[in-house]
Amino acid sequence: MSRVALVTGGTRGIGAAISVALKNAGYRVAASYAGNDEKARAFHEATGVPVFKWDVSDYAACGEGIARIESEIGPVEILVNNAGITRDAMFHKMTPQQWHDVINTNLTGLFNMTHQVWTGMRDRSFGRIVNISSINGQKGQMGQVNYSAAKAGDLGFTKALAQEGAAKNITVNAICPGYIGTEMVLAVPEKVLNERIIPQIPVGRLGEPEEIARCVTFLASDDAGFITGSTLTANGGQFFA
Ligand code: NDP
Repeated sequence: MSRVALVTGGTRGIGAAISVALKNAGYRVAASYAGNDEKARAFHEATGVPVFKWDVSDYAACGEGIARIESEIGPVEILVNNAGITRDAMFHKMTPQQWHDVINTNLTGLFNMTHQVWTGMRDRSFGRIVNISSINGQKGQMGQVNYSAAKAGDLGFTKALAQEGAAKNITVNAICPGYIGTEMVLAVPEKVLNERIIPQIPVGRLGEPEEIARCVTFLASDDAGFITGSTLTANGGQFFA
């Protein structure tokens, strides 16, 4: 039987491309989402990938969601922590709610999910964890102190956990996308995109979700067994780490 892969936020944007790429690579894929039932239903109808709704910032809900997937599909062997949000504001205007929402989803969400598949991966002596961080966790971004802090935290999480997983054949890696053409980025006014953002990208365009999905598929594969604790940057030449 093929391996089971769970993609959080796997119903739209980068996550949807990851779910489809892993399905096409032969994995049994489950995609989770937070609340956009319409998008999730359309994604399921288009791809056949089963979808499951819960909030990754809720530890108990993650446990229940994972248990459901494991009983209906099988033990999670590949976990892609992709779910993420932005709540942008300049720091002097940032509310505690904006801070906590982003930290709870983008950083604590990794703990909530990974902690509850970790024992199974250790018992089976196999696992692949791929965390979707961001260029803004590497370089910082004004208006995104909350997001940059969470995404930088994801990189520390990745490096530390990789050391714990190595002896059990569990790899833990991060991908740092630059600007990718999803709803998160296309919500930026067109003028700002064309005049300020795209000119910063040496390749002269936004990335495609599928370009990140191919990075995930490689890191999930048996071929990537010697790569752990690493950060794969995919940003069109914008920032080198
Ligand atoms: P989208 O906003 O297009 O999609 C986000 C997905 O995450 C949706 O499926 C959403 O579910 C889900 N999600 C959000 N919050 C939660 C939650 N609390 N619990 C469960 N699921 C949740 O995002 P992108 O595809 O643009 O981004 C995907 C990841 O890539 C994020 O981690 C983001 O930070 C990162 N990234 C994106 C970049 C970009 O340029 N787009 C650049 C660098 C990093 P629902 O549909 O129900 O809302």
